[in-house]
Amino acid sequence: MSVNISKNIKTFLAKIPEDVALVAVSKTKPNADVMEAYEAGQRIFGENKIQEMTDKWEALPKDIEWHMIGHVQTNKVKYMAPYVSLIHAVDKLKLLKEINKRAKQNEREIRCLLQLKIAEEDSKFGMSKDDLKALLLNEQLSKFENIKIVGLMGMATFTDDEAQIEREFSFLKKTYDELKTTHPQLQILSMGMSGDYKLGIQHGSNMIRIGSAIFGKRN
Ligand SMILES: *Cc1c(COP(=O)(O)O)cnc(C)c1O
Repeated sequence: MSVNISKNIKTFLAKIPEDVALVAVSKTKPNADVMEAYEAGQRIFGENKIQEMTDKWEALPKDIEWHMIGHVQTNKVKYMAPYVSLIHAVDKLKLLKEINKRAKQNEREIRCLLQLKIAEEDSKFGMSKDDLKALLLNEQLSKFENIKIVGLMGMATFTDDEAQIEREFSFLKKTYDELKTTHPQLQILSMGMSGDYKLGIQHGSNMIRIGSAIFGKRN
C-alpha cells in the first residue's frame, strides 16, 4: 500500500485554518519519510521517544522543529535539551525542574505544554484540572528561568463516540480559556490527532498532531 506523504501534507495544509499549526508525527517512520514531508514544506515534526527523536535530529536538516509529544522520563531530558522545540506532555513539577536545569546547561529556553487528563481511560497520562492549576501557581515556577509554559495539551479517549470526544475537548478548551485569563502566556492548545482533529479544531485547537493520516499506518 503506497502512501503519498507529500500530497497528504499539502492536503492538510490546504484544509486546516491558517492559525492551526500542523505537527507531523513521524514516530516509527524512517528518515526518508520525514524528508518527503520536509520537501513538501513541513517543518514541525513530533516524536514520542527521545532516542528516536535525537537520532532523527542528528541526521536531518537543522531547521526542523522537533516536538516531544510522548510521556517524558526525567532521566532522558538531557538528550533532547540541546534542540527540542516544544515538549507537549509535561505533568509534574519534578519534570519541569529537570527541563529547566538541562535548558540552562544548554543556554536555552525550552517551551512546554502541560497535559490535562481529559480521557476517561485510566491509561492516559496527564494532570487533573486542580493539579494543573496548582502547578501553574506553584511559587517554584518563577525560579525556573529557562522554561516557558506556553499552553495545554490533551488526548481524548480512543473511541467512535464523537459526543464523548467533544465533551473531552470542550473541557480542555474551557480549562485553557479559564487559565489564560490569569496566565496570558498560554497561547497553544495542542488537541487533535488523525482520528479526531476535525473535532479538535471545531473545539478551539490551534495545534494538531497528525501521524497516520500523513505517513500511513504504523506497525
Ligand atoms: C502517536 C501520537 C499522535 C498521532 O497519532 P495518529 O493517530 O497517528 O495521528 C498524536 N499525539 C500523540 C501524543 C501520539 O502519541
